[in-house]
Amino acid sequence: MTSAIAVRGVHKRFGKVNALDGLDLEVREGEFFCLLGPSGAGKTTTLKTVAGLELPDSGTVELGGADMRGVEPYDRGVAMCFESYALYPHKSAYDNLASPLRSPRHRLPAAQARERIGEIAELLGISALLDRPVGRLSNGQRQRVALGRVLVRPARAFLLDEPLSHLDAKLRQQMRAELKAIGAVRHTTTLYVTHDSVEALALGDRIGVLRDGRIVQTGTREEIWYRPYDTEVARAFGRPRINLLPGAVTAEGGFRSADGKVELPIPAGAAPGTEVLIGVRPRDLSLGEGPGHQLTGTVYVTEVLGRSVEVTVRLGEQHVSLVAPRGDAAGLRPDDPVRLWVRPENLLLFEADRPQRPG
Ligand code: ATP
Repeated sequence: MTSAIAVRGVHKRFGKVNALDGLDLEVREGEFFCLLGPSGAGKTTTLKTVAGLELPDSGTVELGGADMRGVEPYDRGVAMCFESYALYPHKSAYDNLASPLRSPRHRLPAAQARERIGEIAELLGISALLDRPVGRLSNGQRQRVALGRVLVRPARAFLLDEPLSHLDAKLRQQMRAELKAIGAVRHTTTLYVTHDSVEALALGDRIGVLRDGRIVQTGTREEIWYRPYDTEVARAFGRPRINLLPGAVTAEGGFRSADGKVELPIPAGAAPGTEVLIGVRPRDLSLGEGPGHQLTGTVYVTEVLGRSVEVTVRLGEQHVSLVAPRGDAAGLRPDDPVRLWVRPENLLLFEADRPQRPG
């Protein structure tokens, strides 16, 4: 099947900065693909390159299987929403949403346009603002109008650059749920850029992790979560962060921590003597005894997080954190001895010098 968007071996340099360093990216037809990366990783440059607003120094961009070399941005059929939105400040929100539908390219009969704008405004929660001039809206409201303006017209792909960044936490969470319900989004390939891993996990059919102008891992949320490419990807997803215990593979093929205090069985295959890190997510560590590997430690500190409690436990010379239901952690005091357990399948193994997982 041809990909909706295919970026192959793209390099893009600005002066001394390698913004894109051999970027390969494929987005499937109809897919909602999240591109996640820290500031400066090349996210915006990727979107602009797909849109034709930046030209690759080398490599190719294909849309629907067609090479985009020499194709102007307005002929690419993609709709892009920038973080810095371009709206008409004196016009009403409605007119800002309607103007793309008045262009010869996307003209819709007035009744159909009203219906489309109505649906999108409703889901973006801006129906009540449609008569207001955009210049008098808040940043968050304006950002939603800008997003609506992109979604309102038919496109072969939507390219969205942190479109929820100016919304407060509650609204952002609500909008995440709404965004994928918008008919146009359900039916259109979407490439969505974010630096927020929670957003990427919530929205992405697949996620691409961008680092220094390259994709280091592409996968579903399960793949990224359970089989992270390296410790950095593992640390990018999940709060509190994943625990990483440094150690080595013993002669018997188990794991022993660097301080010699923690031993755990690990999947067969790692060569004895290999320096490794064992990763375990705080929500995969439980207090008490259970059907898995047992560990013992002492409480270092506890912190209430709403209905659950983050417990930091001293395990040998390490600290590990776990998240337990409030009832289970009630009454724990610093220096109390505690027992912990973890399911074997929730232990992630990484090689220390080459942070990938072995095998
Ligand atoms: P952010 O999350 O901060 O927006 P990003 O992942 O979108 O970051 P890009 O904006 O793609 O990153 O930038 C990648 C690198 O290229 C950065 O180091 C940036 O400073 C540089 N860069 C991007 N555009 C230009 C430009 N027009 N001129 C010079 N340098 C640029």
